[in-house]
Parts: sequence; C-alpha cells; structure tokens
Amino acid sequence: MDDRPNLYGAGREELARQVAPLDPRPFRARQVFRWLYQRDELAPAAWTDLPLALREQLATRFRFERPAWSGGAQARDGTIKAEVALPGADRVEAVAIPADDRQTFCISSQVGCAFGCRFCMTARLGFRRNLEIGEIVGQVALLRAVTGSPVGEYNIVFMGMGEPLHNFERVRAALALLTDEEGFALPPRRITVSTVGLPGGILGLADLPRPPRLAVSLVTADQALRDELMPVSRRYRLDELGDAIRRFGAGRRERPTLEVVMLAGVNDHPRLAPPLARYARRVGAKVNLIEFNPTPELPYAPAPEERIEHFLRVLANGGVVGTVRRSRGQDAYAACGQLAFLAADAKG
Ligand code: SF4
Repeated sequence: MDDRPNLYGAGREELARQVAPLDPRPFRARQVFRWLYQRDELAPAAWTDLPLALREQLATRFRFERPAWSGGAQARDGTIKAEVALPGADRVEAVAIPADDRQTFCISSQVGCAFGCRFCMTARLGFRRNLEIGEIVGQVALLRAVTGSPVGEYNIVFMGMGEPLHNFERVRAALALLTDEEGFALPPRRITVSTVGLPGGILGLADLPRPPRLAVSLVTADQALRDELMPVSRRYRLDELGDAIRRFGAGRRERPTLEVVMLAGVNDHPRLAPPLARYARRVGAKVNLIEFNPTPELPYAPAPEERIEHFLRVLANGGVVGTVRRSRGQDAYAACGQLAFLAADAKG
C-alpha cells in the first residue's frame, strides 16, 4: 500500500510547510503550487524549474494525485458528464456544459447529500461523506483537461452532488485555490456557489476576501410549501434566510440569484408568483426559473411554458429581474438533480 501523503489539494501554507524541510527557500513551494494547480502537471519529474534532487525527494516522500476520470457520457448538445472515481468505492459526477464563448463546469462538493429535497435525485443517496479539497478542485482540473479550456477561461458552479455550505471549510479552501492567481486563476465572479439556503454559510461566504457569486435554491416563497419540498426550510425560515441573502448582496454589484425549479401543479400556481416577486425585492435578488428535468424516479413534471411566462411577467412588473434556464444535457443525465444516476447505478 502507498502510504505517502497526497499533497494534491494542499494550499500555499501547507505546501510551504511540507517543502521547507527539503528546501527552505519560499519560492520552491510556490513553484510546486503553480505546477499543481495552474499547469495541472502532477509528476515531479516534469517540474523542470526545480533541481533534480529536490524533484526526486518530493516524489519519494509525497503523492500528487487528483481524482481520475472513470467514465462519462456526452449529450447531443455537447454537454459532457464525467464520472469521477474517488478513493474507495465512492464516485461523484462533474459536468461540463458548453456555451458560446466558454464552458461551465458543474462540480460536486459531497458524496450524496443530507438535505433530502423532494425533487432531487441526489437526495436519494443520503449523505455519504464530504469531499476533500483536492477532490473538489480536482474535478475542475479534470474538466479543464477534457475540454481543453484555457486557464481562467471557464465558469464554475457548485451545483453538482451535495450541499457546498455543509462542507464549508473545504469549499472555502477550494475557493482559495480556484481564485489564486498562481493557482487556477479564476476571477471570483466566474464561480457560483449554489446552496439550499444555510444562513450561517451564506454569511461565511460573504466574509471571504474574494467571495464568489451566490445562488439560493428557493423553489418557492411560500413557507408551508417550502417546508414540504425542502425539509431544511423548517429549520431555517424564509425570514432568516432572506436576511442572510440581503447581507450577502449588500454593497455588491452582482445581485444574488434565487433559483426556482418549476414543478407542474406544485409551485407554479399563479398565486405563488406575487410573493416570489416580493421576497426577491425584499432580499435584493434576481430570480432564475429553472426547467425541471423529468425522471421516472420522481413524481414531478416540468411546469407548462405559459406558467413560466406568467411568473416572468409578474417578476418584471414587480421590478425584479427574472430569467429562465433551459435544461441542458438531458440525454446524458447531466442536468441538475440528475447527478445521482451513476452513483445509484454503482450502488445497485
Ligand atoms: S437539491 Fe441540493 S441540497 Fe437538496 S437534496 Fe439535492 S443536492 Fe442536496
């Protein structure tokens, strides 16, 4: 068994601590940092700006391994779903969605999820474990390599498996690597953290030196209906959540987004549109209406187009910016809420 510690996912300080006994000059750890995260070159033998003896010592003492591609599928619209193998039998999925100018990478933060939203396939897995820092940023490195995306020229959304703010410390460390100019070099505005709505985590994100964008899966502004669809809502009420969203957005140019997956006969009734507009206005957010991807395992259907149009009109009349996100990648099961298919298959 290989018992060398794996340094992939280590931040600047940790790398400095590990490299210093071999070569105390601070720029050595910086060189390793750049090879790992900016250049995605994980073999010390290839780190040609380091002396050969140091490269050999690093290779003897440490591993530098990121999660591996273990399968995948490509949808007709070009969306790529990568199945990512983790140590042990666990797997998560990471998805690359092409747009006109750049890719969007949808990545996972946990294996399974503890929050049990009724409309989500991942919920069916239950919670297995948090991803490590290297397992989070490793998905980005993997998709960057698969799609040939240049450094810094893509978007990231934390909308895959799991609730990112339930794995806050590791997600925070991953964000530091992703936005570091000598790391993944991604401007924070290209990263969106999507949450079920954990107020403490939202405020934690707001306090970061370079906060990402925030999206909150609201689904409805009706408290009783939200309690039914998202059990977390019984613990963190809409008022408390709204306060956190407003504080996140205060003083920022980019407004937070409220995501509303539109479910036929559930949250698309016209009477639910005005409260949604009022809530969005109160918390200073825009609204993204999301087409639901039907799956045989879930008892929901997509809302009809005229209901979506109605919501958009009510939002506009209420002075709220509303958009619609059309589903992508359905034939590769890569759309939101479908990221449990492979894992469920693997378990079964
Ligand atoms: S929607 Fe998000 S928070 Fe809710 S169960 Fe699915 S993965 Fe978890």
